[in-house]
Amino acid sequence: MASQDIPDPIKDFTGYQGSLFKSLLAATAAANSIPTEEWGFYRSLDRQFAKDLDQAGASALSIGNVLLQQCATDCGLMVKNFGDVDDVVERYGAAIDVCDGLLEKADHCLDEISGKFKQEDFKQDNPEVTQIATKDKLEYKFLHANNVVRPQMKFKDTVNNSGLVPFERKIKYKPHALVPLDSIVTDDDKSLPHPYEYEISHIEYPKTMFTVAEPEMYKPFDTTPLNWVDTEEGLLDMMKRLEGHEEIAVDLEHHNYRSYQGFTCLMQLSTRDDDFVIDTLQLRDKLWMLNEYFANPEIVKVLHGADSDIIWLQRDFGLYIVNLFDTYFPTKILDFPHHSLAYLLKTYCSFDADKKYQLADWRIRPLPEEMLNYARSDTHFLLYIYDRLRNELLEKSTSEDGNLVRICLQRSNEVALQKYEKDVYDAESGLGPGGWKNMLTKWKYTMNPQQLSVFKALHHWRDHTARDEDESCRYVLPNHMLMALVERMPVDSSGVIGCCNPCPTLVRMNAQTIGYTIQQAKMNALMAGKEDSVMEEVVPAKTETTTITSNNGSVTTTMKVQQVRRKVPDIDPSLFDLKKVKKMRTETAEKLEKKESTLFGSCLY
Ligand code: AMP
Ligand code: MN
Ligand code: ZN
Repeated sequence: MASQDIPDPIKDFTGYQGSLFKSLLAATAAANSIPTEEWGFYRSLDRQFAKDLDQAGASALSIGNVLLQQCATDCGLMVKNFGDVDDVVERYGAAIDVCDGLLEKADHCLDEISGKFKQEDFKQDNPEVTQIATKDKLEYKFLHANNVVRPQMKFKDTVNNSGLVPFERKIKYKPHALVPLDSIVTDDDKSLPHPYEYEISHIEYPKTMFTVAEPEMYKPFDTTPLNWVDTEEGLLDMMKRLEGHEEIAVDLEHHNYRSYQGFTCLMQLSTRDDDFVIDTLQLRDKLWMLNEYFANPEIVKVLHGADSDIIWLQRDFGLYIVNLFDTYFPTKILDFPHHSLAYLLKTYCSFDADKKYQLADWRIRPLPEEMLNYARSDTHFLLYIYDRLRNELLEKSTSEDGNLVRICLQRSNEVALQKYEKDVYDAESGLGPGGWKNMLTKWKYTMNPQQLSVFKALHHWRDHTARDEDESCRYVLPNHMLMALVERMPVDSSGVIGCCNPCPTLVRMNAQTIGYTIQQAKMNALMAGKEDSVMEEVVPAKTETTTITSNNGSVTTTMKVQQVRRKVPDIDPSLFDLKKVKKMRTETAEKLEKKESTLFGSCLY
């Protein structure tokens, strides 16, 4: 682009940004037109090309280093310049640290712009300002606990991550039933209906729900009894103390890094008198008893942003909420500037919640005091906030019967009616929340046909391994490492390990399989390329269903794979089998050795 076409960033930043992106895209597309591993070949073919490549590389490295130093200084970090491409790969973590620093700065600036730090903007109805933690960053020991015994090992309900076996609902007994527990399968996919669908749609609210009432002030945080519940006796004791209360505040803390589907680690319950923190790892198979209160339409359950909580309660404990008041909806209906619980706590209770604990590893036991206090503060003030919000909704209602409260209850009920279903991985279409399509769209990355094929294969390997090992996909292979593998397409273990720094355990253990997966995916793409050089998406042909048994470690999984003929074929899941991999690898290596060039040699065609 000629320099006179580039808009002045001072006068027209959006225009400048647009032109910058355009150039960047063009440069990326040009760079991607030759696969990395073929550079050597072209270098040897044309001396001028080699010279240009070296010059461009040195210039990119130098610009990168200037940028790195500038940003590192801005974030108060010390980073050594990168020496060469290997140095970049080896110390990539340093660049990530600088990017994290920049993102944090941007976050801070946005908070400042949106007024989060302007303390005087907040209403100060209560002079008591409590702060439970003051440090800016969550200490490492709370974030990633070492030596935590995997809690799922002790779960009585075995974890089944297969996308082919539907979730089996846990409820066996249905208190406060208006219609009996339904066991008739209605849907095609064999999943049962929501057991409290009828009850939730037929709640008869008392008149008091739509009448303004004096808010009941919460008890001081420090003098309210805190009850840690981790035994059945403790649970029964707590249930006795819940007796007679018409409102209960509820919240959950969850863990999903070292688990495929995730699990609930903690349940916080507050009445007007007490705070309870329940160890749901210990009491996982006992908590169904709480349906006595949770499904009771005469008790209001107050939660903030209950979408996930509803799902976690039914998935882990078979618990359902009838009569939910989600305090998130009033913040929308009343058009508040923020919608978080932290904002409500600050506004109505002058309480600074330290939300960094959201990210803590909630499996840690015994629970550190800081975490216990944080967890407790999530429900301690909530009933008072509910009083205030309900009054505000009634005051702003335009009808006698409190239409805004009714809207809030209706939306809350829609949340309570959600049903948990397992995520299914569709290797073909890549659709769904954990599918590759999602990641591909977000990445805005140009891939050549081989890289696209490798990307899909690695993505599939990652999902398969995560299910098998009951780990999250980001634990198995974080996105940025997956993309590093796609970019460089290493076919041997050391190359694979070299792309990932620090190398995740499961990548190290399966480096050979991954290398082979990459090799196969590359070959598939080359073969498809031979068929038709124009790369397009799926070419649907006949569909057939096969059953492939894959033996990964000690677990044997049976997968049904829908095979569709396409220009970039998907990877065969059977190659996740290490023994087969070794054999096939040797065979391929032998085949390749016989031919002179992988680029022009006839072995692949
Ligand atoms: P909360 O309702 O704020 O107590 O959050 C409940 C759970 O949701 C936490 O224990 C986390 O597992 C998860 N969570 C909430 N916010 C975030 C976040 N910003 N990032 C990651 N996980 C979160
Ligand atoms: Mn919550
Ligand atoms: Zn919480």
